[in-house]
Amino acid sequence: MRLDGYHCRANDIDPHAGTCHDRFGTPRTIVLPNDLEMDFVRRGARGPRHTDPADHVMLCPGHHRGTGKMAGYQWSTAHRERMRVWLDNGRR
Ligand SMILES: [Zn+2]
Repeated sequence: MRLDGYHCRANDIDPHAGTCHDRFGTPRTIVLPNDLEMDFVRRGARGPRHTDPADHVMLCPGHHRGTGKMAGYQWSTAHRERMRVWLDNGRR
């Protein structure tokens, strides 16, 4: 979590990612740390799942699994490759 500074990274990765939403689907400029979720991005042939912090991206529930207005659309699933590139470039 430290790596991502406790905020949703969707807009760093995709300028068109849009507004963040909390777990209740309420639009938020800032989603509180308790509400943030970790998304795992599989890269290469790295060992077992969920072990390397470098393979995780912090996202709000809206961008992670689609809450609120985003219901039914999962930004994270649609931007897998983009997240991978972002991680490969050292989170930039
Ligand atoms: Zn977000």
